[in-house]
Amino acid sequence: MTILRTKQAVKSALQILRNSQKTIGFVPTMGALHYGHLSLVESAKLSSDVVIVSIFVNPTQFNNKEDFEKYPITIDEDLLLLEKNGVDFVFLPSVEEMYPSPILLKMDFGDLDKTLEGTFRPGHFSGVGVVVSKLLNIVKPDKSYFGQKDLQQVAVIKRLVADLSIDTEIVVVPTIREADGLAMSSRNVRLNADERLTATILYKCLDFAKDELLAGVDWFVIREKVTKRFHDEPEARLEYFELVETESLEKLEQIKGQTAVSICTAAYIGDVRLIDNISIV
Ligand code: AMP
Repeated sequence: MTILRTKQAVKSALQILRNSQKTIGFVPTMGALHYGHLSLVESAKLSSDVVIVSIFVNPTQFNNKEDFEKYPITIDEDLLLLEKNGVDFVFLPSVEEMYPSPILLKMDFGDLDKTLEGTFRPGHFSGVGVVVSKLLNIVKPDKSYFGQKDLQQVAVIKRLVADLSIDTEIVVVPTIREADGLAMSSRNVRLNADERLTATILYKCLDFAKDELLAGVDWFVIREKVTKRFHDEPEARLEYFELVETESLEKLEQIKGQTAVSICTAAYIGDVRLIDNISIV
């Protein structure tokens, strides 16, 4: 496994492979890797000749300074895991390498970034859009792998790639969960033992809401019950619990024929903010 720290090193290493008709699969991450990330790597290995993973905790997508400062960093373990899982290249740039000058560009994704996460994390998707654009320009992958866990990010990136005619296929990989349903996340390590137990409330409520919805129960009745469940849990604070059209993220009050719909949620467990979603149809 080769570690590349500069844009130029990535370009040179990958150009040789591209010239010999190898397809390049790219997995962007912020590190503190877990099996969720590794399932992206596994998908990439199955459908690309060469796999490159980036690890970069992007400062411009954190609207909360404390969240950025407390973001777990486990580079040595990450590199061991990636090597064990057959990754060919890791791009490990510094902040200066990615941002040699301050970024003036702001990205606006219309209705896609004014809802859900966008309401609670202003500027987050502009930061994501800019860093993903930079990474895709540097790596120029045939395929790029993203997790369903960040459903709104997937919607934004699909739009980014379409609007800027970026020549990469976006592959979406299902959410990997712990045995009790909690979606794997780098932030989970910040939960203490009690909070870790409480954190299952996100998936339990998504699963409950999906069953109720499919049984024909009114969405507002379901949401009321979920809100109460969060209210009864002292360590949990619900930010949103919404039924949305999966692609447009338009908020819905009922299932809409065959259109793909999902329920998305975000909540604080203690001082750790977690997100999750479940697809309904
Ligand atoms: P992050 O390091 O949190 O920025 O995540 C990097 C990529 O891994 C993103 O595309 C995430 O959606 C994806 N990812 C994170 N957690 C999971 C999970 N539990 N299952 C599948 N993919 C995930």
